[in-house]
Amino acid sequence: MTPLPLLSAAGVHVTFPGRRGAPPARAVDGVDLDIGAGEIVALVGESGCGKTTLARTLLGLVPPTSGRVTFAGEPLSYRSRALKSYRKRVQLVLQDPSGSLNPRHTVYDAVAEGLRIHGHPGDEREAVASALSRAGLRPPERFFLRYPHELSGGQRQRVVIAGALVLDPELLVADEPVASLDASVRGEILALLLSLRDELGLSALVVTHDLGLAWNIADRVAVMYLGRIVETGPVEEVLTSPQHPYTQALLSVLPESPATPVVLTGEPPDPSRIPAGCRFHERCQALASGEADRAGVAESCRGVAPAVLGGGVGAGVACHLRR
Ligand code: SF4
Repeated sequence: MTPLPLLSAAGVHVTFPGRRGAPPARAVDGVDLDIGAGEIVALVGESGCGKTTLARTLLGLVPPTSGRVTFAGEPLSYRSRALKSYRKRVQLVLQDPSGSLNPRHTVYDAVAEGLRIHGHPGDEREAVASALSRAGLRPPERFFLRYPHELSGGQRQRVVIAGALVLDPELLVADEPVASLDASVRGEILALLLSLRDELGLSALVVTHDLGLAWNIADRVAVMYLGRIVETGPVEEVLTSPQHPYTQALLSVLPESPATPVVLTGEPPDPSRIPAGCRFHERCQALASGEADRAGVAESCRGVAPAVLGGGVGAGVACHLRR
């Protein structure tokens, strides 16, 4: 029997009122996504594609307009007491450690904050020391009385991660976890997330615009465009043999890519004006080059939306060329 996913989104839509008379913005527009126990899933896409809104929905910070989020098989409840206990089990790691740490709080207080909010019954000092140690700040006591400005960028990000670990979560949602760090410390933070998966069985959803980062850390990748997942699968499969023209374009501009760079023209369309047919068709190089026409799918590209992908571990591509 296939084990239940730890966290699952099914048919999730998140719609915001349109600005200044515009139609409602469909920030998340029908997403199925599962994250298994001990699995790292990278959610990848350009800025504005809806990945952060989806992550906030999975965290219980934004209720879905329709669809459902389940954790360990139980539907997520948006009542405050249930959410408080959920947020112990699913922790957010933000991208900018300088912004997420209060400059007037010591490392000890920053890490202890979650324990205090949740009324931790055990030994606070021991829990803080253990979290710092798991985040690679050792010996932990050396860091207790330091302030954020006395730490390096990598150490600050480790403090943020310790603040998440202190509540013994089962899943981390990490939003661009290394975007603000120097290249030299990025590898260390990614190695830390991998060791947390291997040693503690911790799951993670890593939200990033960077497919290269997904390659380094994820077991599985989900590529999102304009509110929907357009390609998903095991990271090696998707990144060595991308099938969706959008994934191909994102990969082609990575410095290590052997492919001819495909520069995506224009900005992604406004989520309040999602085009008919395939939502990527206005920027699709396969359509512009005539490839879709030669394959006999150009009309569908402009008029028929590809089917929504399932959220499970199998690979999937939402493109008429890859039926
Ligand atoms: Fe391009 Fe058509 Fe595939 Fe959309 S469905 S990505 S327009 S080929």
